[in-house]
Amino acid sequence: MTKFDLLIKNIDIITLDDSDRVIKNGYIGIKDGKICLVSDSLPNEVVSKKEMDGRGKLAMPGLVNGHSHSAMTLMRNYADDMALDTWLFDNIFPVEAKLNEEYVYWGTMLGIAEMLKSGIIAFADMYMFMDEVARAVTEAGIKANLCKSPVQFFEGGELKRLDKSQGTIDYYNKYHNTADGRIKVFVEIHSTYMFNERTLTNAAALAKQLNTGIHIHLLEAATEVESSQRDYGMTSVEICKKTGVLDVPVLAAHCVHLTDNDLEIMKAMGVSVCHNPTSNLKLGSGIARVPKMLEMGINVCLGTDGAASNNNLNMFEEMNLAALIHKGVAMNPQLMNAKDVLKMGTCNGAKALGFEDSGLIKEGMKGDIILIDTDKPHFYPKNNEISAVIYSAQASDVDTVIIDGNIIMQNRIFRSIDEEKIKSEVDRLSKKLLAN
Ligand SMILES: [Zn+2]
Repeated sequence: MTKFDLLIKNIDIITLDDSDRVIKNGYIGIKDGKICLVSDSLPNEVVSKKEMDGRGKLAMPGLVNGHSHSAMTLMRNYADDMALDTWLFDNIFPVEAKLNEEYVYWGTMLGIAEMLKSGIIAFADMYMFMDEVARAVTEAGIKANLCKSPVQFFEGGELKRLDKSQGTIDYYNKYHNTADGRIKVFVEIHSTYMFNERTLTNAAALAKQLNTGIHIHLLEAATEVESSQRDYGMTSVEICKKTGVLDVPVLAAHCVHLTDNDLEIMKAMGVSVCHNPTSNLKLGSGIARVPKMLEMGINVCLGTDGAASNNNLNMFEEMNLAALIHKGVAMNPQLMNAKDVLKMGTCNGAKALGFEDSGLIKEGMKGDIILIDTDKPHFYPKNNEISAVIYSAQASDVDTVIIDGNIIMQNRIFRSIDEEKIKSEVDRLSKKLLAN
């Protein structure tokens, strides 16, 4: 007798496992949060606590958002059509100075609701009031890699770079591997331009001491190429290597302006890159050399960045853009094929965030699965499931989200969070936050 907690029947399945199988009309069994059956047939005697009919749907590994600032949903459609420096220093930082716990909790909740609705089962977040982010993640049932900065940048409006290492240690001890293992904690290095050689060295030592990784913005805009030469006499990647930052697992967002030598260092040190195509295009930052990175074997995942520079948290858009823009820039349609891009949106992200047991539909992996409603005109005829996800699907096609075997959303209705309450709280708070 085979026992399941959840059995999904009659479902088409993109496994992304080693065999690269796409199973038609198959079965997925989940027990104790893990996938224990992926097959085109059922064992003889089966009992299941719950069953789901997958007809007209496609199962695939849940999406992973490799770089975000979820609470920035509060600043959605607020400061658009300007360069990174003006956007960040003149528009975003002044609003962020007014944030408190309540703003960050509800802004994060809105971001999580939006991400779940578009099939995201895990995200990496870098922000402030990170206790509130951990609270939102714990309540919502999603997975997250959260990070905490060991440096407080400003005091009394002056750039001081104060040591807050103890706060990072406390945060790590309080949250790492909590919420049934759904939360991982990394050390935050905002960027090499907000840190200096001393604070970079200390942050690297702290990550080593905690035996964890680092989440950093790296060479997002061309201005960082100049500031790094001015401040360090070398590139941002080189100063990261010198200060020990790259000795631990690193999740490096953007990586737009890398030299060939930088890429060699990233490859040698096993750095994971998070490509954020929409944000890079919108802020005019440039286009990262992702095809080259993939060719070198660098682990590249995908992210939305914050909703203030995107302006949504939709990984289907990021996958679509990632598949298209590099073909256009290089005038080569063979670059960034659909399967490679799907891996960037799923298993590569899971690896980069420290969820090694997620990202594939395979026996032994966590039950992190989304079901797409493919009974819509834009999915017909059903020629190629992976192409359909990258080139045809919309975020609103996501019907069901399952995380660690728990049904978080079904028929686009949440089980764990109150969507109406989140929207009204955000509406109320953003009016207060963005008023002059
Ligand atoms: Zn960012």
